[in-house]
Amino acid sequence: MLASLRVLARRGGDLLFAVTGFCCAKIPRLVNRLFNRSSFDRHMTNPVLIPRAEHCISRDNIDDNALKVLYRLQRAGYRALLVGGSVRDMLLNHVPKDFDIATDAHPEQVKRLFGNCRLIGRRFRLAHVFYGREIVEVATFRGSQDVQDDEDDTSPDHRQSESGRILRDNVYGSIEDDAWRRDFTINALYYDIADYSVVDYVGAMDDIKQRVLRLIGDPATRYREDPVRMLRAVRFAAKLGFSIHPASEQPIYELGHLLADIPPARLYEEILKLFHSGQAVTCLALLRQYGLLKYLFAQTDRALNNDPQGIFSTFLQQALHSTDVRIAEDKPITPAFLFSAMLWRPMTLLYERSMSTQAEQDTGMALNDAMNDVLHIQCTRVSIPRRFSMVVRDIWSLQHRFTYRHGRRVQLLLQHHKFRAAYDFMCLRSHAGELTDDSCEWWT
Ligand code: ATP
Ligand code: MG
Repeated sequence: MLASLRVLARRGGDLLFAVTGFCCAKIPRLVNRLFNRSSFDRHMTNPVLIPRAEHCISRDNIDDNALKVLYRLQRAGYRALLVGGSVRDMLLNHVPKDFDIATDAHPEQVKRLFGNCRLIGRRFRLAHVFYGREIVEVATFRGSQDVQDDEDDTSPDHRQSESGRILRDNVYGSIEDDAWRRDFTINALYYDIADYSVVDYVGAMDDIKQRVLRLIGDPATRYREDPVRMLRAVRFAAKLGFSIHPASEQPIYELGHLLADIPPARLYEEILKLFHSGQAVTCLALLRQYGLLKYLFAQTDRALNNDPQGIFSTFLQQALHSTDVRIAEDKPITPAFLFSAMLWRPMTLLYERSMSTQAEQDTGMALNDAMNDVLHIQCTRVSIPRRFSMVVRDIWSLQHRFTYRHGRRVQLLLQHHKFRAAYDFMCLRSHAGELTDDSCEWWT
């Protein structure tokens, strides 16, 4: 009953949202407050249970090691469930990337059960169970922020920043608390190893059927708690081909600036997930649509907005398409290619400007300065590990050498350890219309 009320409260917010239009984005928050989650959190509510006969998840599709962990936890008397992306993906007949496990066992109890286990994370401890090179991640059910605020308000350090970002999130809770603190409804489904049922606290099965991405709770508040959820919305929409529910979509247009608070190292991880999802072309289009690209790749965004002939835009789409194709064909990919493509036009713009404004400018120096400046500016938002920025430089600085077609220079270029990457890059430039000669054919 209470679970249904909560789902109703969520739907109520959406309904009001639809009726009143996007200008009243505060209304769902109000409704959320009226049906305040924390007042429900104190009670166990009944989830919707989908028995084995009524869903398509089979143990044949679950990784053997994840199954071993689930069964061992269960035999020791703990609850053990798959959660998140793996349950979602199996219900959609996708192959999951990894299998995360949720349990009521505390990390130390998990460690005692598995010899091959390491606890990681200072603020929130997770157990990693090792099987050769494979890691199965086991997380104890986490409590919600509301519960912490009401029951544990004695700690001197702040749990939230001024913008509402969650800085600490380290309280254990019930499975229901755990479900409600997840990001999207479709990511809050559990598969229970005890009876092979799917457990749904948040109305996720409906959203799976409707192919809708919906944030749990009040969207603006949830984005403020963790602005990366906006990037996750884009990624899941692109990867799953889902639409973002209007109430979850609208705040993205206004809250993109909060990404400025996210550490560059975390943004780097998220960018790889976005552009190496196999749907990089769609991710780029969505990031531009929601006005998020400027908070990740400001220089690229400006270059795309000032691209009258569309050459850079074509080049970038083809580059990302080639990455998508390589992923579909299970071929290796490198972040260096992504960054060299995204920042190519910003770099050449800087180079051209410096060549045109300074008489007798040394071309090598101008190129070097332009590469340094563009990479430096990018790294203030999104860190690029040095091992990749070195390759970006190689790819860029080899480009002018494709104009030499005689003698030893040809041999030297062919022998360069980054020849292949630079050649692919040059052909993309050629196909996008940036090069007017026959360099691609000649070198091919
Ligand atoms: P993928 O297929 O990309 O791995 P995923 O849904 O498994 O997708 P993960 O980043 O592996 O994504 O996270 C695992 C689960 O943890 C998610 O399904 C979600 O329930 C929860 N989660 C992850 N990031 C957040 C977040 N920023 N806020 C709330 N919950 C999150
Ligand atoms: Mg995952």
